[in-house]
Amino acid sequence: MVNEADITRAAEIVAKAKNLVAFSGAGVSAESGIPTFRDPGGIWDRFDPDEVGTTGGIFSAAARKPEAIRSFLSETVETFEKARPNPGHFALAELERMNILRSVITQNIDDLHFQAGNTRVLEVHGNLYRQRCLACNKKTKLTKEKYLSKARSVLIEAKEFDLSNLLTLMPTCECGSSMRPDVVMFGEAVQVVPESIQEASTCDVMLILGTSGVVYPAASLPRYARGSGAKIIDINPREHPFADMSDVVISEKTGVALPRILEEVKKIRGE
Ligand code: NAD
Ligand code: ZN
Repeated sequence: MVNEADITRAAEIVAKAKNLVAFSGAGVSAESGIPTFRDPGGIWDRFDPDEVGTTGGIFSAAARKPEAIRSFLSETVETFEKARPNPGHFALAELERMNILRSVITQNIDDLHFQAGNTRVLEVHGNLYRQRCLACNKKTKLTKEKYLSKARSVLIEAKEFDLSNLLTLMPTCECGSSMRPDVVMFGEAVQVVPESIQEASTCDVMLILGTSGVVYPAASLPRYARGSGAKIIDINPREHPFADMSDVVISEKTGVALPRILEEVKKIRGE
């Protein structure tokens, strides 16, 4: 059950916000059917991060045991094909339309904040559908349908699978070189860091949504917000890694709590 007093306190803070920023993690997309990394039954319970967490690891494993990598990647394709924004994503898009939410800083690579209608999304770990050239660094965003239908034909529908299938999944850049998904794998540099620090340091309220707070440097962003005097609202059904700096802690799924907060904000503002 949602604690109504906590929802009301959160809504009062959000309704007064001048610069609201949301900071989201994998939990926000859990209700869209995308497993988180660290929840039980999540990706890391079944696949070895040394193998599938780096580009080199995936290529090397694809050469040594193609069927295992095919099964990991096929499962990923099917998960992303089915994923649609959930009520939590839509509530954030509505808060942006109401000129309350200024931006979303997300650790997710799934594009679901954009698909829900948010326009200012800082993706610190990149976006699966954006491709980056390995030589000239040019970036191009493909549609979800285009990227996943190609991935389906190469991974799921192909009779056989080996390293060469994986290579055909990499589009060719105008410069002639190969492109790869513009996502941050283990050990790679996090993206849009100065912009994210700027957003966090200048917001007056931060919503922390479905993150375990263990992936740095992203997990340091709430401290920038708090350090600048922002109020913090942490929504997570299982754990509250930022409880020490939070004004309101809500132990509930974001797909349940965010629409409730939105409803109360609309009442407060007479909309
Ligand atoms: P995490 O897997 O470490 O933690 C997930 C958090 O979400 C947990 O605290 C869990 O209690 C919470 N949670 C679970 N269900 C929830 C729900 N319905 N509502 C709200 N919270 C819920 O995730 P993280 O902190 O984002 O770190 C993992 C890293 O893995 C991220 O940096 C991201 O790059 C990547 N990742 C992305 C996706 C995605 O794009 N959807 C999915 C998995 C992992
Ligand atoms: Zn190029």
